[in-house]
Amino acid sequence: MNYSELLRQQREFFQTGKTRSIDFRLAQLKILKQAIVEYEIAINEALQADLHKPVVEIYLTEITVVKKEIDYAIKHLKSWIKPHKAAVPLEQLPGAGKIYPEPLGIVLIISPWNYPLQLAITPLVGAIAAGNCTIIKPSEIATHAAAVLAKMLQKYFDSTYISVVEGGVETSQKLLTEKFDHIFFTGGTNVGRIVMEAAAKHLTPVVLELGGKSPCIVDTDINLEYAAKRITWGKFINAGQSCIAPDYLLVPEAIKQQFIEKIQKCIAEFYGAQPANSPDYGRIIDRKQFDRLVALLADGKIVFGGETDAESRYIAPTVIELASLDVPAMQSEIFGPILPVVTYQHISEAIAIVNQGSKPLALYLFSRDRNLQKRVLAETSSGSACINDTVLQFVVPTLPFGGVGSSGMGKYHGKASFDIFSHYKSVLYRSLAIEINLRYPPYRGKLPLLKRILG
Ligand code: NAD
Repeated sequence: MNYSELLRQQREFFQTGKTRSIDFRLAQLKILKQAIVEYEIAINEALQADLHKPVVEIYLTEITVVKKEIDYAIKHLKSWIKPHKAAVPLEQLPGAGKIYPEPLGIVLIISPWNYPLQLAITPLVGAIAAGNCTIIKPSEIATHAAAVLAKMLQKYFDSTYISVVEGGVETSQKLLTEKFDHIFFTGGTNVGRIVMEAAAKHLTPVVLELGGKSPCIVDTDINLEYAAKRITWGKFINAGQSCIAPDYLLVPEAIKQQFIEKIQKCIAEFYGAQPANSPDYGRIIDRKQFDRLVALLADGKIVFGGETDAESRYIAPTVIELASLDVPAMQSEIFGPILPVVTYQHISEAIAIVNQGSKPLALYLFSRDRNLQKRVLAETSSGSACINDTVLQFVVPTLPFGGVGSSGMGKYHGKASFDIFSHYKSVLYRSLAIEINLRYPPYRGKLPLLKRILG
């Protein structure tokens, strides 16, 4: 495919100004929602083929998330699109300041395979709301999902407005040689660097939604059962292949045994004695990821789980105890159903372990102690945090989502998505009714008065 020609066509369409009207944007958001409703069964089939995703998980973590994001944008777009008034200093009077959000132009969205619908469509909602044209490059690894996404969007939208380009790394790299007005990338930290480097050539702004090791600190002042249940759910949905899954547990030595037993009980409740036979437990996306994860099993003592089957890419929900932090399982994001447990005596040790690594995408703390909550939040830095639950911070539209440091840059969801795909143009309106000559040459004799006025 000739990407330069596709971009030229999108630019031509963008320049007609059609995408700027609020009616057009609202209509496209409604069409997008309709498309998802119509394609729900096809989406379910694709995600089951790619990841063995349970239909309830697809509904909760993909379909509902994007539908709610669309509804939120539809509800608030009228207020987002309004220019804001800005106060003007006395010496600029008579005059007025206004800030106008305007669309950027052509947006490139590059998405990963783990939540292939949601992570392509959620940014698209922001791009549409802000009045842009969009090209989406879904992950080639979730092949069925990429095909459905392309079919669905091609059916409902003209390619001069929204287009899906299927393909792998080469396709992505070719697209990245083009000049976009914004690049929204979700994926691994190393690829994020490649994307940012390519964007720099055209001075294209980027949002990078990357990964990292999201710690989960458990205190003794908790409801053990609820904490274990919420952690087990957040860790093992999508077989652990979630960017904000609790990556590893930091548990006080005193409750370690009890807590691990609770997690084991939750796993049995959720997935039965044989998770391999459960319709509610996912599979690893491909052989490469499977092999990577199996190698991590050797990094600690398997407390339970550990069963694997290469043919079906099954890895049982597994808890491992680590004797040392100096192992691969603690050096890169796990991104699979293996939960390392690390113990601590005092909270300062847990905080130190978190702060040893790169800034995580998410941090979880389970504690009823308000002072401890404040301390952990103040002494650590993470893209987002959630106290006494996992993952749910992702679906609160008023909480902008994103990373910090090597877990990413830029935030989206709700109004934040509209903001990243908009340029806020500052405009000063001046009156032509009067003229004050103080700023014009010749300057002789004007300084004392200028100083009196401006300070
Ligand atoms: P990835 O970085 O390998 O791939 C993401 C996209 O980039 C794909 O579309 C792929 O085709 C493309 N790509 C891959 N290599 C490329 C290259 N060299 N040049 C240009 N484009 C390239 O990521 P993945 O394996 O699909 O997803 C897993 C990673 O994504 C994990 O690190 C995870 O934490 C992260 N992630 C982050 C979020 C978030 O919201 N922050 C969400 C989901 C996943």
